[in-house]
Amino acid sequence: MTITDRLVFYTKTGAGFFSSPALFSVNNNFMRVLVVEDEKKTASFVRKALQAEGFAVDAMSNGEDALLAAAGTPFDAIVLDIMLPGRDGLSVLRQLRERKNTTPVLLLSARGEVNERVEGLNLGADDYLPKPFELAELVARVRAITRRGGESKPIVLRVADLTLDTVTHKAQRGGTEIELTAREYRLLEFLMRSADRLCGRMMILEKVWDYDFDPGTNLVDVYVRRLREKIDANFEPKLLHTVRGGGYVLKETS
Ligand code: CA
Repeated sequence: MTITDRLVFYTKTGAGFFSSPALFSVNNNFMRVLVVEDEKKTASFVRKALQAEGFAVDAMSNGEDALLAAAGTPFDAIVLDIMLPGRDGLSVLRQLRERKNTTPVLLLSARGEVNERVEGLNLGADDYLPKPFELAELVARVRAITRRGGESKPIVLRVADLTLDTVTHKAQRGGTEIELTAREYRLLEFLMRSADRLCGRMMILEKVWDYDFDPGTNLVDVYVRRLREKIDANFEPKLLHTVRGGGYVLKETS
């Protein structure tokens, strides 16, 4: 274990920790989380905290085992440490997404791994949590990434020549199909449903990430950049506009 990989935990021992009901995924199984962390103490704390909140937890200590586990089991979320011996967390994430595995991923990063966090989001991570963290926050974030949106109404949203099918989750611009990750889809759906209206960062965090707190990161901006690459970079007119100091707006004219 290196210094940057060390965790300081603020363990919570209140009664509330052990009183939560079991969580179920959409297909009525236990919510199952894969925890990938080589540091035994950390893995054990995280596992216990998630189990106490009703999640079923599998833990792996290296990337290869994690990929095998993810290939064989449909997890509802993966908590993935970046710093692992051998194949690191980013490599695991890249491999998962290349295999079209869309399981939500929460990256754990050591202090200072800013480039790795951004790279992780670009690779398709849903969120990241810098160490040290509080277990309660980790549990809240795992809940947030596993939470499914309500039943979608079968409609196609449209802004200019950009369309989004809310059933198939397929996006098209000018007839060109655009591939979206699950989180990018939620972001685009929210922006399209709010077309012509200003969407502040906090509002986006609430609606797209289910956060009711500001994580103090540039998560929204990173995702908006990714989305812009996909829906605007090769097309005219530009639809996704930045409102300085305010947030973002999706609209046909600037
Ligand atoms: Ca580690």
